[in-house]
Amino acid sequence: LAPANIRAIAPYQGGKPISELAREMGLNEADIVKLASNENPLGMSPKAQMALEEAIYEIARYPDGNSFALRDAVSRKYGVQSAQIVFGNGSNDILELAARAFLTAGDEAIYSQHAFAVYPLVTQAVGATGVVVPAVEFAHDLPGFLKAITPKTKLIFVANPNNPTGTLINKTDLKTFLQQVPKHVLVVLDEAYDEYLSSVDKSEAIAWLTEFENLIISRTFSKAYGLAGLRVGFGLMHATLADLMNRVRQPFNVNSLAQVAATVSLQDEDFVARSYAANQAGMAQITQGLEQLGLSYIPSYGNFVSFKVTNASAVNQALLKSGVIVRPVANYEMPDYLRVSIGLFGENARFLEVLENILKS
Ligand code: PMP
Repeated sequence: LAPANIRAIAPYQGGKPISELAREMGLNEADIVKLASNENPLGMSPKAQMALEEAIYEIARYPDGNSFALRDAVSRKYGVQSAQIVFGNGSNDILELAARAFLTAGDEAIYSQHAFAVYPLVTQAVGATGVVVPAVEFAHDLPGFLKAITPKTKLIFVANPNNPTGTLINKTDLKTFLQQVPKHVLVVLDEAYDEYLSSVDKSEAIAWLTEFENLIISRTFSKAYGLAGLRVGFGLMHATLADLMNRVRQPFNVNSLAQVAATVSLQDEDFVARSYAANQAGMAQITQGLEQLGLSYIPSYGNFVSFKVTNASAVNQALLKSGVIVRPVANYEMPDYLRVSIGLFGENARFLEVLENILKS
């Protein structure tokens, strides 16, 4: 029924929902720990929650199709013009809008091996060809990206930090890369995890937008802002690119609750700071725990870490049986790894304890 490019798409494999596992294993939902989707274990900003309680009374009305208040907040916070912003139903929507606006059959899009799964998905969906550059020690090989550019290349996806490897490209290398990419090739720089970076590592790419008119920066409210369920993200870019992406955007792609929560969250810097601190502490707890179990892991700059374990698939099944959901990453060509998201202290402890018992038995 569908054309060959659609039939060739590998379905996106998300984290198993708590309710599904509870039913499968006959467990209580309250006894399940989900560390599988890089969500914020602190929940959302309390200020956003209060605003949502009010916003619910406006549900009968359509959302603001241009996200005026949110646009104003993003514009002020990041020092960009309103016309440089595109809002999405999650940042996945931004990735898809970029593919739909700029790629067509016959074009090539470049991304890394072990890179975020949505890049191949949106590329194939529009009939373009994905060109995978082998990773170097799980990280993006930017010189390899440059070598992979052909006359057909239209778009390059760069995830920084990348999921599921957690690897980070340093700012000098990234800027050098951008300077070498031909101007007619667009670079989608996916910064979904930027809020988890230290002040030293944090991206400066927004300041580079004036220099690179082919740069599209993608951000999300799903991670440090804790709004994954509401689906809201945004892209920052030259106004010409934003105009083209907005043409293929659904008129009401960001719902009204998402707009309200995102606008308030953006101003709640205290909540983001707490999320960052909790992630630092949880990352130390989990990586130390993995080391004590004699397991190696890929040092991560995100709110998750991928660790190596013998019989990863069987270990994953055993974790599920005990009510701990992590993410297998075999579909990322990492069959010997599992990815665990950083949770609350007790959740991390439970994961480590269950894992230890599985490895012993
Ligand atoms: N980019 C990367 C690298 C991600 O890991 C994710 C979330 N898994 C996203 C984008 C998309 O997140 P969302 O659509 O919730 O903004």
